[in-house]
Amino acid sequence: MTTNETTASTSEGLNDIDGRIGELLHKMTFAEKVGQLTQINGSHGPIPEWMADDLRNGKVGSVLNEVNVDTANELQRISVEESRLRIPLMIGRDVIHGFKTVFPIPLGQAASWNPELVEKCARIAALEAAAAGINWTFAPMLDIGRDPRWGRVAETFGEDPFLSSAFGAAMVRGFQGDDLSEPGNIAACAKHFAGYGASESGRDYNTTSIPEVVLRNVHLPPFKAALDAGAATFMASFSDLNGVPASGNELLMKQILRKEWRFDGFVVSDWESISQLAVHGLTANDFDSASAAANAGVDMEMASSTYRDHLEALVAVGRVSQQQVDTMVANVLRAKFQLGLFDNPYTDPRRFPSWGNEDHLAAARQLALESVVLLKNENDALPLNPEELNSLAVIGPLSDDGYNQLGTWVFDCDQELSKTPLESIRELVGDSVEIRYARAMERSRSRDGEGFEEAIAIAKESDAILLFLGEESILSGEAHSRADIGLPGNQDEFIGKIANAAEDKPIVMILMAGRPLALESVVKKVDALMFAWHPGSMAGPALADLLFGKESPSGKLPATLPKVTGQIPIYYAMKNTGKPACPDTIIHIDEIGGEQASSGNVSYHLDAGYEPLYCFGHGLSYTSFEYANVRVSAPEISMGHSFAISADITNTGDLEAEEVVQLYLRDLVGNVTRPVRELKGFRRIRLRAGESATVTFELRTDDLAFCNREMEMVTEPGQFHAWIGGSSDTNSRTEFEIVENDNNHPHGE
Ligand code: BGC
Repeated sequence: MTTNETTASTSEGLNDIDGRIGELLHKMTFAEKVGQLTQINGSHGPIPEWMADDLRNGKVGSVLNEVNVDTANELQRISVEESRLRIPLMIGRDVIHGFKTVFPIPLGQAASWNPELVEKCARIAALEAAAAGINWTFAPMLDIGRDPRWGRVAETFGEDPFLSSAFGAAMVRGFQGDDLSEPGNIAACAKHFAGYGASESGRDYNTTSIPEVVLRNVHLPPFKAALDAGAATFMASFSDLNGVPASGNELLMKQILRKEWRFDGFVVSDWESISQLAVHGLTANDFDSASAAANAGVDMEMASSTYRDHLEALVAVGRVSQQQVDTMVANVLRAKFQLGLFDNPYTDPRRFPSWGNEDHLAAARQLALESVVLLKNENDALPLNPEELNSLAVIGPLSDDGYNQLGTWVFDCDQELSKTPLESIRELVGDSVEIRYARAMERSRSRDGEGFEEAIAIAKESDAILLFLGEESILSGEAHSRADIGLPGNQDEFIGKIANAAEDKPIVMILMAGRPLALESVVKKVDALMFAWHPGSMAGPALADLLFGKESPSGKLPATLPKVTGQIPIYYAMKNTGKPACPDTIIHIDEIGGEQASSGNVSYHLDAGYEPLYCFGHGLSYTSFEYANVRVSAPEISMGHSFAISADITNTGDLEAEEVVQLYLRDLVGNVTRPVRELKGFRRIRLRAGESATVTFELRTDDLAFCNREMEMVTEPGQFHAWIGGSSDTNSRTEFEIVENDNNHPHGE
């Protein structure tokens, strides 16, 4: 300490955050202000002297990627005990789907359609990360995933704004709790603001072109939901949005985030995304990039140093105002106050539950269980009955791979916690069934066919065959996009060989993958198909329970599965077009005549039709559910009023099971054309065999609002269709009309 000034935390009489921020700002030199806007990468080892000096000199506001609690405490100690103004650090890390205990990838979590459970798991992730000194996670990722070629679709909650909003808000609540200053609560970061999911051709970091109306109707709602849930920070995307890269985009950050949504947290750039503004060609150099980002509203710079190098000069020449810099610093300091870091920046790991404890693993197991989607189950191939089996072939590179079942973003995972399917199946069946295992291929993408013979031999000898195939984790995630989303390597050929060898024995394929896959060519060759995503540490017990019917599958697709890659983008909330296809109007390429004719002039592909392989919301169970009496509380609803849509659901099978009941609406006419269906509600219910329940969704007419061509959120009067069912292609429909509010109206409240 070079001065006797008191710190903000000990100042008498200053107990409101704004007052404390004001006092600090008053004391700060310009260099100290820029320090708060600077985030540097951790050292992953002893703290180098240059870093310690930078902390002492107030040149650093945040460190990322430091996961050792002693180092984190030492970084904080230097910052609060040896720097002039004693400002603590934000210590950030990508805690994406768990820390030591790994939960399913976010896309898998979304397949659970269970935000409460996801909130609980985010809470566990926060506790485990906080024990390492981390007080900020770069999650949730809220980009809409409508292009499964994109490797980062694994990190999304799928294709739908409503579903992503529910999960985004749940994760924020899980990470942050009710009060950010409580130990174990960490700041969330809604990323990547915005539009990154629309990267052209699914190639990571690629350009995005998103009409503003689509941006507002499709891409922004999950961010608004995260903000409403209290997300303390946002991250600006790498991507170029309509010619203005997001990290320098005033519409996004100044207009929408700050002015329209009144966000009072701070925005961090993505990794070097400010200096990359010049690489995009928006700016000529770092000087201009710093100016563009600061004026657009990026408060903190991750990894690059354009603020550090140029902000002072930018203020001197009037390109960035002093007031703008003060606002940016205040935004960062506010988060630090909210986190309670000024009162206690240190972490005592003994105050936290141990990593990977029984409760954490139980939650991971439950989320993995609920995230598995049963796509196909011909002739009730599943569940397997150990009493009817003498032997079982367990085949494939993902049967017994404790690392690759974890998925992308698992830098901090404890691989020792992983239980693999092979291990858990052995445990579950004990000695009663002989398990024969063959890896069959070294990696999911192998092409040598070397292990095929052994696998085919055990398939021939066994009573049933389990194939654990798909994608190993390195094939998805950041910068790991694929142009062809079929099964990698020569898995297709392999499945064909197994199908030939199996004769009439059941083949069950369990896919692990970081993205929706195009499975048309393989689905016919197997009797049952389960999509397990990358299920995390507890993949094994969750899958064993499902395969042997300890629990019924209940996951539902959070994204459409195309038949072939060329159908992308294909999503359920599509527009009707002027020439919608239906089964009678399409002609397959093999049947089309040689002469040009106008029959079949509808919106479809000659070689793939217009339907997906499996639609959004699809997922089978070991029991069956029937939906009846879909009804709305009144045929006409006055604008501004609430109403209810209900259905009766019966478990018509023999087993108790869970079902995800889904509500879809269609607004028949709009100032801008509306999707053919939009998810507006969902609920997970559990029914005993034969049991019925009524599920009611309460809505307000505001829930039907959309952004029109004037960029206003409006609910328009008119006709609506509503469906309640077990997937997006349900036929159980009702109708209602929204009418202008009229006090004489019979349904007015
Ligand atoms: C990713 C972000 C991530 C950041 C920090 C970037 O490359 O795009 O999602 O939070 O790195 O690790």
